[in-house]
Amino acid sequence: MTQISTGDMLRAAIKQGAPLGLEARALMDAGKLVPDSLIVSMIEERISLPDCGRGFILDGFPRTVPQAQALEAMLAKRRKTLDAVIEIKVDETALVERVSGRFTCARCGAGYHDTFKPTRSAGRCDVCGSEEFSRRADDNAETMATRLAAYREQTAPILPYYAQRGLLKSVDGMAEMEHVCSEIETILSSGPNA
Ligand code: AMP
Repeated sequence: MTQISTGDMLRAAIKQGAPLGLEARALMDAGKLVPDSLIVSMIEERISLPDCGRGFILDGFPRTVPQAQALEAMLAKRRKTLDAVIEIKVDETALVERVSGRFTCARCGAGYHDTFKPTRSAGRCDVCGSEEFSRRADDNAETMATRLAAYREQTAPILPYYAQRGLLKSVDGMAEMEHVCSEIETILSSGPNA
């Protein structure tokens, strides 16, 4: 199934020097949310592409109640419905630790963490052997504080929005990676409104 990450799309727009990237960059670097109108039109365009015809997984969207309402309208227009909304619950201290130590291979995109998932051989990607890695500009403790505040103030209100619609499924993100993964698989394979 097609995975759509709004954060990845914005980072790609920044890399390409696209106008959307220019508009979003300062906000992202500061850990603040990008305006709803920008995100909503980006998603509307993306879900209209043929690879989304059989369904898609949204990652990092919606992040505000107006985005959730816009999504509902977009889906209704296409006669599609949400199967589930998955909340992965992680303590804030653990989140900061996870985010501050993560990095990816600059060539193949494989994900690592300084403490929890280091490369097997120092400085070399396990998957493709590349020696170049990248870290996100906003993955530092200071920006993380603003990102968490944005989550509490603007994103957390979508939890009751989806709970009321019977769509919200919560997963314990403090559990082992394999467990988190199988919990998500169970939710997705149990079908709509299970
Ligand atoms: P992420 O990769 O999901 O952690 O997103 C990184 C940054 O991109 C966020 O801190 C926001 O600045 C911006 N962003 C990504 N998705 C959204 C969204 N749905 N609404 C507003 N801003 C977003």
